[in-house]
Amino acid sequence: MNKKELFDALDDFSQQLLVTLADVEAIKKNLKSLVEENTALRLENDKLRERLGEVEETAPSKTKHVRENVRRIYEDGFHVCRDFYGQRREQDAECMFCDELLFRE
Ligand SMILES: [Zn+2]
Repeated sequence: MNKKELFDALDDFSQQLLVTLADVEAIKKNLKSLVEENTALRLENDKLRERLGEVEETAPSKTKHVRENVRRIYEDGFHVCRDFYGQRREQDAECMFCDELLFRE
């Protein structure tokens, strides 16, 4: 290897190092944004889990509360079924659609 070839080889090597350095910087930048995104998602996940816990705790009583309201409306003489929703039950006649809705589990 003569002197020119040696210098050319070193030039090539230093060019490759610069390219590799730029690649490493790009990977670092990507990693940083992934870590940030991951952190944001973990926080969001925690919030959603907390919210889900609240919802699951209150859901049965809410459902029960709604059912009681619907039953009261029916006992006041109104249809709660989809077919005649909100209409007055003639002479408090029973409605099989309302019954189905009220007594289904
Ligand atoms: Zn009805």
